[in-house]
Amino acid sequence: MTGVSEAVTRTISLVVPFYNEGAGVTHFAGVILPVLEAIPDICWEIVCVDDGSRDDTLKRLVALADTDHRFRVLELSRNFGKEAAMSAGLDAARGDAAILIDADLQDPPELIPEMILAWRNGADVVLGHRIDRSSDSYVKRKTSGWFYSLHNRLAQVQLPENVGDFRLMDRCVVEALKQLPERQRFMKGLFAWVGFRTVTLDYTRPARAVGETKFSGLSLWNLALEGLTSFSTLPIRLWTYLGTVGAVLALAYGVYIMLRTAVMGNHVPGYASLFVAITFFGSIQIISIGMLGEYVGRIYMETKQRPLYIVRREHN
Ligand code: UDP
Ligand code: MG
Repeated sequence: MTGVSEAVTRTISLVVPFYNEGAGVTHFAGVILPVLEAIPDICWEIVCVDDGSRDDTLKRLVALADTDHRFRVLELSRNFGKEAAMSAGLDAARGDAAILIDADLQDPPELIPEMILAWRNGADVVLGHRIDRSSDSYVKRKTSGWFYSLHNRLAQVQLPENVGDFRLMDRCVVEALKQLPERQRFMKGLFAWVGFRTVTLDYTRPARAVGETKFSGLSLWNLALEGLTSFSTLPIRLWTYLGTVGAVLALAYGVYIMLRTAVMGNHVPGYASLFVAITFFGSIQIISIGMLGEYVGRIYMETKQRPLYIVRREHN
């Protein structure tokens, strides 16, 4: 490749969130370092964010940082979740670009040289795109597919499908992300919202080598809800229209009954339809109140203006 790739040494920050990954720390360092060292003209800093692990992750990370100055360890005061941990890492990153990667190395580090090449050739964002998700369960793939199609139909900002957090971002993108003040952070949405010149690289995602996934069905559901409510107000506005349609129909039915009674006299039957109508519209009302609650709850959390995360200590 020719072009802009001048032999100037640049610094890149690898940002890695760790939550109860004690068993994987040595494996991580062992795999990642040879890959990074093989890339010419790049200085590395590896920002490891310990997201309040309860096992020996922190101890192992600090031991690593003590022997290798390229490792920096950011110790959060408790488990703040992956989205906050990534924000913490990006805030601390000092490089000309930052690469986000999971500690379990499910995203292949072998893609990093290609990412850097694309970056040197002018891309601001380089995305890793999973072409094969057979390592995820059938249910996870299906529900994730539903989420993306629903989200992209409702929200103005389109999320690229099958793209995780594995990505390279130029300094200007990192600075743009830092300007977004919201506490409820759905990073995938924020990444898409800031835009910039984006290049996509394909890869296949293998199963986890060590440990197990930290995301249960419920936490993925919450993340999806976070994504939808952060980037679209349609779910809350929908109820105005549904309510209007319901009211018009109910009114028309009322007029019909009045006319029918006037023409054909009084009818006693009708308990079944009444019962159905009451319970149906009662449930709709409860659902719409719940929908409101999702937004009101988020407004409430947002008004507190609490920091996204607290750093207990920084090593290196
Ligand atoms: N993670 C984190 N905080 C959490 C949950 C997860 O920092 O509360 C990290 C975890 O250590 C890993 C990454 O986020 O580096 C992805 O987690 P995982 O592999 O469990 O997710 P999956 O690959 O199943 O989507
Ligand atoms: Mg994983």
